[in-house]
Amino acid sequence: MVQSVRGMRDVLPDEARRWRSVEDRIKYLMLGYGYEEIHLPLLEATELFSRGVGEGTDIVEKEMYTLTDQEGSGITLRPEGTASCVRALQEHGLLFNQTQRVFYSGPMFRYERPQKGRYRQFYQIGAEVFGAGGAEVDAELISMCYRLWCDLGIDRRVHLELNTLGSSSVRKRYREALVTYLTPLIDQLDEDSQRRLSRNPLRILDSKNPQTQALLEDAPVMSAFLDEESVANYERLKELLNQLQVPYQQNDRLVRGLDYYTDTVFEWVTTDLGSQGTICAGGRYDGLVEMLGGKPTPGSGYAIGLERVLLLHELDHAEREPRSADVYCCVVDPAQHGWAMHFIEQLRELAPDLRIRLHAGGGKLKNQLKRADQTGAQWALIAGDSEVTNNRVAVKFLRTDQAQVEMGLNELAAFLNNAIQS
Ligand code: ATP
Ligand code: MG
Repeated sequence: MVQSVRGMRDVLPDEARRWRSVEDRIKYLMLGYGYEEIHLPLLEATELFSRGVGEGTDIVEKEMYTLTDQEGSGITLRPEGTASCVRALQEHGLLFNQTQRVFYSGPMFRYERPQKGRYRQFYQIGAEVFGAGGAEVDAELISMCYRLWCDLGIDRRVHLELNTLGSSSVRKRYREALVTYLTPLIDQLDEDSQRRLSRNPLRILDSKNPQTQALLEDAPVMSAFLDEESVANYERLKELLNQLQVPYQQNDRLVRGLDYYTDTVFEWVTTDLGSQGTICAGGRYDGLVEMLGGKPTPGSGYAIGLERVLLLHELDHAEREPRSADVYCCVVDPAQHGWAMHFIEQLRELAPDLRIRLHAGGGKLKNQLKRADQTGAQWALIAGDSEVTNNRVAVKFLRTDQAQVEMGLNELAAFLNNAIQS
């Protein structure tokens, strides 16, 4: 048998059921904050990411699935959603002089080392706000996440880490200071950090290597370089979070992997998933629209890693009895299969909220009832000879010891509608 490609996961029914419910709740919440959904393509021009995400980043340097199409154009399977979001809104004239609140969802692709919580195809749900600067929007985005974790019942397992990267000129000066400090120590840095020193030195700050971290103890800190405006913004954000009662921790070493961030950056982190601990990450990227060729437009947003959220959610919310059907219809005589199908079709029309599964594959009634039980259904319908003749079915109660009864279509629909509502 052909196997799946490394890093590509199948989401099987038990997980998909929980996935759908979590994804629906996230989107419902985003709609509730006045964000509108947009759908973006999986393929974009490679240049969008080399410019938007940044040449020196891990994503662009080594993680992209890039190919040349039949016309010779360089295209890339999207590794993230923000650059596409900007591209789409810009292309359709929805950015300039407007405030937009949008969300997107779907698979992203990065060629990295697969492990639990880290895949080559993974699913993000992201929210972005364009055209509004300032700490208020950042606070809204953060408190929206917080409400979400509470709603999903995982708030006790995550905490918020917060930092500010200042304006791009501040970052530039800080970068220089960091390089000046680290250059004489280059031989003591881990291999990745040595490479980053020339390409993306800020990333060294979040190296996981203990020796590198020790060297950073005496490194210059970003906060000493911030200009007044960035400091004021950061203070305002913290004030708002206090007011909203969203707990946070300051982390001076928090930098984000993508080049486009300015001022606020944040991550929601758990210690329960090993080293894949960030379930959601975001920040402000006021320079991005301009970098991609638009008019200066502030932007801020975050992306949730859905697989990691589900891994966390599962720890407390493993479903005990997965149910795939409410009603299971058994067919005693294969000659009556057509009748049963027709009966069920009419029932679906009268009771559209019910999940009704029709038995397939024949076999003894006893075995069919065993299947019915496995689906978690509460009721089995049995179409036998005498029932079919009278246009009725026998209803067997699978979860209580109520006696079996016979019902016609309308009576059955009314009964089931009533039963699943309560
Ligand atoms: P990491 O440091 O874990 O590689 P990142 O900084 O590259 O994360 P972002 O680009 O900020 O991640 O993406 C936002 C979120 O998407 C992450 O916090 C994480 O939850 C999720 N994510 C990123 N890469 C992967 C992946 N390869 N597999 C599963 N989820 C991922
Ligand atoms: Mg990464």
